[in-house]
Amino acid sequence: MTDTFGPRITGSDALEKSIDWVIRKLKADNLSVTTEEVVVDYWQRHQESLHFLSPTRGPVPMHILGLGYSVSTPDPINGLEAEVIVVHSKDELEQLGQRDEVRGKIVLWNNPFTSYTENALYRAFGAVWAQGHGAVASLVRSVTPFSLQTPHTGVAEIARIPMAAISVEDADLLERSLNRHKQDPETFPEWPKVKLIMGASTELESKISRNIIIELKGREKPEEIVVVGGHIDSWDVGSGAVDDGAGCFIAWETLRQLSRLERPPRRTVRVVFWTAEENTSAGGVVYARNHPEKDSSRHVFAFESDTGVFDPYGISFAPGTAKDGKKRDSAEFLTAAGEYFMGRREDLGYPGAGRHVLPNPFGADIEPLCKRGVACAEFVPADPFPLPYSTSPYAIKYGTGNRHHEDDMQSMVKDHNNGKEYNPFHNYDYQNNNSKKHHHHRSRSSNIHDKYRRPVDTGYFYYHHSEADSMGAFTPDQLKRSAAVMAIWTYIAAESPIEF
Ligand SMILES: [Zn+2]
Repeated sequence: MTDTFGPRITGSDALEKSIDWVIRKLKADNLSVTTEEVVVDYWQRHQESLHFLSPTRGPVPMHILGLGYSVSTPDPINGLEAEVIVVHSKDELEQLGQRDEVRGKIVLWNNPFTSYTENALYRAFGAVWAQGHGAVASLVRSVTPFSLQTPHTGVAEIARIPMAAISVEDADLLERSLNRHKQDPETFPEWPKVKLIMGASTELESKISRNIIIELKGREKPEEIVVVGGHIDSWDVGSGAVDDGAGCFIAWETLRQLSRLERPPRRTVRVVFWTAEENTSAGGVVYARNHPEKDSSRHVFAFESDTGVFDPYGISFAPGTAKDGKKRDSAEFLTAAGEYFMGRREDLGYPGAGRHVLPNPFGADIEPLCKRGVACAEFVPADPFPLPYSTSPYAIKYGTGNRHHEDDMQSMVKDHNNGKEYNPFHNYDYQNNNSKKHHHHRSRSSNIHDKYRRPVDTGYFYYHHSEADSMGAFTPDQLKRSAAVMAIWTYIAAESPIEF
């Protein structure tokens, strides 16, 4: 699908052709498939470029991706030239704004990665905040913990000024240049300037897309629905294999496998490929509206995969709300069930793969259901990258589950470092390379002490919303194991008599 049709941005022909292809394939699998229409927006990027106008080097091309819903530069052909002002928080912007230092400038939000939710805030609202102080454009450091000059796009609130993501390296170059000018204006007399050209267009509610719904009727309680899925749309760069083609396809395989059982599960399993997640989550909203809870059909469990498919780690889970308004205590049951079904398996990549139950699921498409009190879960992959860049594959390898203590980390790091004692969290300073400084409170190391670590929180974002999102990001084996894990969890949800 990704090779044949390319990336699947909402509103594009590529998305609808991909949906048609999926439907044909589902029918060939003899699965019962329907669609529901969703009115969607169509945002398109056209020409875009950014040059750092270096007084010593001339125009230096930078790595840029416009953000979803951005407008074009007022002159889309010649663009605009402006000085860059660097900020790290809304407060800082406001202080500069009060002194009228933002007017006529391009604001650059240059915050190092701490977490997706935190950094995506500047991507989402940076332009709206900046335009209020007279900025002419807003640039944001790409939301990623690691970069090889890869810009990462994403959605943002509609603003009157153009907005774009630039690579981590380019953002840092601009900040260093500004600092040099401020600290030593005699040697560096010019305030750093850039030339931004952006063409972009938005057509609100101009297209029809579709959610795909596939169903396997429950054998005892067909009115109780376990919904499983991912989103079929993607960004317009890369190929949307990681976000979220793989999430959809492991749900598809889940249904294919469950439909082969002699005895279908007790409850109905419904796989949904939601559309338009990346811009407004319109598919999830329409699905929730079209399928209200009633006695003849109600959701008991909503399960989404939208944080990548690498080695399976487990699920994150939030119990549903009982009639009396209290949260159920089904997490314990799920933990035991995961242990029972996966604890002793050795064919899922490493002992214990797939069995962990963490708190705080997030899935944009199932969110409307979660808010209604439906139990919600998210598929959690292990982080695909080893220490010191991230932590989880080693933690999993050494069987420490989802609780990471420093001692565990020590042995993991020792292994990674060819047996030499080496504790990056004591001896390694990420900012100044390897001096012996305390940095317990830096985000990366303090995460280690969290009771529950999210193993997903770094490696996925190397690819996310960038040209690097491709089939090469994961292996066929990882896809198979993740599908197996998703099928097991779905079976647990659909077969267990308990209310989640
Ligand atoms: Zn996604």
